[in-house]
Amino acid sequence: MQYPVNEIFETLQGEGFYTGVPAVFLRLQGCPVGCAWCDTKHTWHCDPELKVDAEQVIGVSGDKGHWSQWPLSALVAHLTSGQYTARQLVITGGEPCLYDLTPLTEAMSEAGWQCQIETSGCFQVRCDANTWVTVSPKEGMKGGLAIQPQALTRANEIKYPVATEQHIDNLKALLATLPDGATPVVALQPISQRPRATKLCIEQCIANNWRLSAQVHKYLQID
Ligand code: SF4
Repeated sequence: MQYPVNEIFETLQGEGFYTGVPAVFLRLQGCPVGCAWCDTKHTWHCDPELKVDAEQVIGVSGDKGHWSQWPLSALVAHLTSGQYTARQLVITGGEPCLYDLTPLTEAMSEAGWQCQIETSGCFQVRCDANTWVTVSPKEGMKGGLAIQPQALTRANEIKYPVATEQHIDNLKALLATLPDGATPVVALQPISQRPRATKLCIEQCIANNWRLSAQVHKYLQID
């Protein structure tokens, strides 16, 4: 098994349930979802001309569209080498669920790490049972992909991007499709920290007993 890696770096998780927890971020390359507001558009394609050596993706890549193909064994060896203090691995993208994350999450769980996946929900989620799955549903995007029921059912957390009241209505419609017994954490995330969106999210979190995901890393100006 191999994974196309855009960057690996240690920071604080800035979003969702684990906000504030030190974590190693593993950003995988590739995403066909096509969100207009995407802040990682450089991860959309695995351009053969931008393929680099493994060590070049260690650290923050900024907006570089480069990537390196890492074998599973090398990736696990790097993550567990002792150079990181965090024991939380955030697998993000791009769209990480383009890839089978089962062997990676199994290996990291066995090494004592908590894994977390951040996905659009447009692909089946393949991971071990201990992994925390955050689905941030991306509906009606340019890629024309639909939300996968399996991804919603597997979600431990639904982190919904919000700009307008229509997004709240869409979220409620989505939650109504969850199977009986599914009780994911629900968090609202204001799109691009817009003041109006933030105000709407605060009001709706209080009204519905949901959480606010404020993307604190952007306010703290950290990666
Ligand atoms: S799913 Fe994520 S990486 Fe893909 S286009 Fe949307 S915001 Fe960007």
